[in-house]
Amino acid sequence: MVIVENSVVNSIKYFITADIFLKFRPFIALSLQTVVAFLALGGSAYSLVWLEGRREAEPLPRAGFWNETAPLVVVDAGHGGHDGGAVANGVVEKNLSLDIAGRLKKELEAAGVRVVMTRSEDRFLSLDERAALAGMHQAAAFVSVHLNTDGEGSGAEGIETYFAEAKGLSARQLVPEGQGRGEGGSAEFAKVVQRVVCGATRAENRGIKAREYAVVARAACPAVLVECGFITSSSESVRLKQAGYRDKVADGIARGVVLFLQVQGLRAN
Ligand SMILES: [Zn+2]
Repeated sequence: MVIVENSVVNSIKYFITADIFLKFRPFIALSLQTVVAFLALGGSAYSLVWLEGRREAEPLPRAGFWNETAPLVVVDAGHGGHDGGAVANGVVEKNLSLDIAGRLKKELEAAGVRVVMTRSEDRFLSLDERAALAGMHQAAAFVSVHLNTDGEGSGAEGIETYFAEAKGLSARQLVPEGQGRGEGGSAEFAKVVQRVVCGATRAENRGIKAREYAVVARAACPAVLVECGFITSSSESVRLKQAGYRDKVADGIARGVVLFLQVQGLRAN
């Protein structure tokens, strides 16, 4: 078992650092996802054995993974219209959240996931309108994209992911059967997304946090709000202004979402 773990650790180092990953992603996707799932499930030898066992029991060709209807994910670009969100270092949150959300949509669609955006242009929507889309489309997951702030020059940076510990009554009633109550799978969803997006971006990992933000508390499915970095940080705001870095953020979130959906699917089988 020790040998298996070492080879897995080496694979992780290789896949995460090498740009070759992007080029050959279609071919190695399943094995990479196995590695990432291994980490997401706590990195125990047991989780690897469990995943491998599942794969042997039921081979999952990539094209046919979503064996019935492909899952639908609601992607929410934070703020918009008269609500600009935070402003710092020449960055307006509503513009950057829309940009990252658009990249996230593309990544998810490339993985065969259906996507509904709460907004695809600069317009205002209430938090309830955003959350309601999850129920309306019977979404499998909901991701809200935001940028963080602290005192300008405070030096705080990194990524953190929020989930609601107790979903509101109306949302809870809409949570599909088998997903449980309370946070309805959102804590695990947050854990996976946070881990993968931090791996993809090498951003400081500020962890997952339970908070009753309306947009995630009222969405009728596992829901997370990702604070993709601090625009108040002089160094992180520079990175966030680079399209290549925003691609990494979007790619990391997308891989976390897909992994979460796949693990849910395996459990449901
Ligand atoms: Zn925000």
